[in-house]
Amino acid sequence: MAQRIFSGIQPSGEVHIGNYVGALRNWARLMSQDDCVYALVDYHAITIPYEPAEMQHRLGEAAVAVLAAGVDPARAILFVQSEVPEHTELAWILGTLTTIGALERMTQYKEKAEQQQNQVLGLFAYPVLQAADILLYKGEVVPVGEDQVQHLELSREIARKFNAAFGPVFPEPQHLLTQTPRIMGVDGKTKMSKSRGNTIAMLDTPAASWEKLRTAVTDENRKRRSDPGNPDVCNVFTMHKAFSPAADIARVDRECRSAEIGCVDCKKLLHQHMTAELDPVRERADTLVRHPERVREILADGARRALAIARPVMAEVRQAMGLRAGNGAGAL
Ligand code: SF4
Repeated sequence: MAQRIFSGIQPSGEVHIGNYVGALRNWARLMSQDDCVYALVDYHAITIPYEPAEMQHRLGEAAVAVLAAGVDPARAILFVQSEVPEHTELAWILGTLTTIGALERMTQYKEKAEQQQNQVLGLFAYPVLQAADILLYKGEVVPVGEDQVQHLELSREIARKFNAAFGPVFPEPQHLLTQTPRIMGVDGKTKMSKSRGNTIAMLDTPAASWEKLRTAVTDENRKRRSDPGNPDVCNVFTMHKAFSPAADIARVDRECRSAEIGCVDCKKLLHQHMTAELDPVRERADTLVRHPERVREILADGARRALAIARPVMAEVRQAMGLRAGNGAGAL
């Protein structure tokens, strides 16, 4: 039976190949068997300082990226989180069931808080909003990378607490761990991120992506062409695992260790597979960029479909909690 999948992506500017491999490509694949709800989570994006004048552009870029990566709006719901106010309403309610201690244990909060001087409540409460995002659609499965597993455990705990206190309303969402290896930036050491200038963008032209790949850091102990390399410590090999067919991955693994293949040839082979996969994505994105009205229509339709799920769930939550219906009609 089809399961309800929920996932979100922040409209945080340029989508890079790490986002594509770790999230968007899976979103497109999952769509074939499941009932998918995908959100552009702008309420999450505002938990760090941002430029208001750029937000709509960033949302448009994120929508184009998701659609170009293969998400079909006829089969999956794609919408902007802030168009469904029930997200923040449910987040408040779930916040009454979440302990401060549980939020303080979130590794991602600790990491992000270190980068902020004046830490804000929104950043601290981020995992509660995330739980609301999922539970509002009674999401059963959430595709995540390793770094999000802890947040999902918290979502499950919150769902359990709600059900115990008010009756069985929410399923406990399970994580679907993305099997893709984690691609680092082209410096080979830090997380791929636009602010670090170490990305290969999903929509880069072949010339632009080659320019970045050409200088990408490999196994640093391999100083000369004749030195055997170790693919296990090489980020280029990680990218091969994400883009190349099994036979070429096995070949690179073998020939790197025996120094039969040089790093330049290895990168050329990777680039060939990468562009074969990303060329159609870029073409779809070019078409969508020429038709912004189409993207707007898709998001408007997505918001309508998301609201049609979210409103009855919120009515159920209100009723379970003994709150008023919220439609001016008094108690349910
Ligand atoms: Fe990395 Fe390929 Fe060079 Fe081996 S041959 S070190 S896998 S780039």
